[in-house]
Amino acid sequence: MFNLILFGPPGSGKGTQSEKLIAKYGLKHLSTGDLLRSEIAQSTALGLAAKNFMDKGQLVPDEVVIGMISSALENNPQAKGFLFDGFPRTVAQAQALDKLLMLKKTDIAIVLALDVTEKELINRLLNRGKTSGRSDDNNEDVIRKRFAVYTNETSPVADYYKKTRKFKPIHGEGSLDEINAALRQAIDKAMADHKN
Ligand code: ADP
Repeated sequence: MFNLILFGPPGSGKGTQSEKLIAKYGLKHLSTGDLLRSEIAQSTALGLAAKNFMDKGQLVPDEVVIGMISSALENNPQAKGFLFDGFPRTVAQAQALDKLLMLKKTDIAIVLALDVTEKELINRLLNRGKTSGRSDDNNEDVIRKRFAVYTNETSPVADYYKKTRKFKPIHGEGSLDEINAALRQAIDKAMADHKN
């Protein structure tokens, strides 16, 4: 299996680039944000509970998202690899993911981290909020809260992966095609080096 994490702050382009990468490499896309929004759309108990956190720009509790990822891994036994998008967002989630993958006798091959300045991110999110229908994207206070959460709780995840040399920063500004080419180059190299 070849598993990768697309990492980066809100609005860095993880969702957009994930769509292109799963098509190219035949990976299964696991976005915790998309999974949570699908639970909300179906008005499940999990979705209703998660919405309270999401609307405030806070993280949904670790055990909820870890449980969703665990089920998704179980439900896709044929996948040749997973692309994790928006997960892990805390060090506890990263540790849980390592354990889940170890049980499947696999691991994370590479963490691709999209680098984008905060000014550009705020512009992108406010623009997305005009059309996405996402209530967390059209309020600047909620966007700022998400950045604070990213700095405090999610950026330590980068340090976690830097220790294992799996962390690869990618310049996240420029055309979609340029960014995609940089991601593909890093993935091709990681695939050539990866052994399980
Ligand atoms: P963005 O990257 O723009 O913030 P996402 O769709 O990844 O968009 O996440 C939207 C919201 O969903 C987050 O602000 C958070 O409340 C919740 N969420 C998504 N993934 C996680 C996760 N791994 N852990 C906790 N909360 C999450």
